[in-house]
Amino acid sequence: MPAILPPSMLGILGGGQLGRMFVVAAKTMGYRVTVLDPDPLAPAASFADVHLCADFSDAEALAQMARTCAAITTEFENVDADAMRRLAQSTRVSPSGDCVAIAQDRIAEKSWINMAGLPTTAYLAIEQQADLDTDLSAYLPGILKTARLGYDGKGQRRVSHPADVCAAFVDMGSQACVLEKMLDLKLEVSAVVARTSHAQIEVFPVAENHHAEGILDVSIVPARIDAALADKARAMACKLAEALDYVGVLTVEFFVLQDDSLVINEIAPRPHNSGHYTLDACINDQFQQQVRTLCGLMPGRPDLLSPCVMANILGDIWPEGGEPDWAVLMEAPNAHLHLYGKQDARPGRKMGHFTVLSSCADEALEQVRALRETL
Ligand code: ADP
Ligand code: MG
Repeated sequence: MPAILPPSMLGILGGGQLGRMFVVAAKTMGYRVTVLDPDPLAPAASFADVHLCADFSDAEALAQMARTCAAITTEFENVDADAMRRLAQSTRVSPSGDCVAIAQDRIAEKSWINMAGLPTTAYLAIEQQADLDTDLSAYLPGILKTARLGYDGKGQRRVSHPADVCAAFVDMGSQACVLEKMLDLKLEVSAVVARTSHAQIEVFPVAENHHAEGILDVSIVPARIDAALADKARAMACKLAEALDYVGVLTVEFFVLQDDSLVINEIAPRPHNSGHYTLDACINDQFQQQVRTLCGLMPGRPDLLSPCVMANILGDIWPEGGEPDWAVLMEAPNAHLHLYGKQDARPGRKMGHFTVLSSCADEALEQVRALRETL
């Protein structure tokens, strides 16, 4: 298939911050972009050439995208995978609806990871109550997670006894779940891969991720792990992308256990919050890779140009009716502020992020902490 070149129209399902950063990357390269999002104030809308303000299942809007876009991607995994498969009958779509469907469902996701010969946590798929009539001791103490629609730690319960599992399963609506053994984590890391339909593949440096209340708080790059372990994580991420015959940008989240072994926690069929550092610190960023792979262009070089720490900015820091004081952050010559243009600052809502680039990651982390104090 020939490469899609500027000023072709590209389409994206979803107009949140990931969609916005995709639009910026695509527009910078000279493409035009259509965004489908039901929110009139969607963060991506103000940068898009066309904003189709309609539901993700709106047949008319999807038909218009299929007609007018040379290629279509998504910014979130909970898009209707069937809608993506239908779009793919008339236009180029990446990632595929099949890959998105796998990433939507923790049961399918884990079984694909294992089929690729890669490790996950020990887990039990629970589709109905009867699946709990077995010896659960290998998974306890553990975490019960809904198979679908969980994010930022939502849809999860810590469980210690078989009776807790049963109660939590019923409490979460008896929907399909996975029960995972609680592991003793040394660290969490992630790797973002870009792969084309010709199997050209590039993988970004590994990020070390720290969460607060289930939400990513900071990513530190390069991750403070052995270079050999980081290489292993990158190789595992590539191996999974190959196994899925994945086209587009794929994020792989890992747990590093106390013995320095790696298990894959979950995947996202898109750029990821833990890859935002690439915007400021790499030769190409994860959204440029999304554009490139969507358009059938070689993935760009992912090399890290400087150690970098990314910190999320949540709505919690907005004063009543006001705005955080950005002055000190804006004056820092090695920091970059990214705000997503969201109107309502709610607690836990991702409003933006900032990065600090420095000669070493620990120094950048210290500066991130100091700058946060000023907000
Ligand atoms: P989400 O979709 O909300 O990101 P995750 O499966 O990544 O869900 O879980 C959120 C966080 O909970 C992880 O980043 C990790 O800190 C912790 N966690 C999840 N599963 C396990 C596990 N099996 N053992 C230990 N910690 C876990
Ligand atoms: Mg996660």
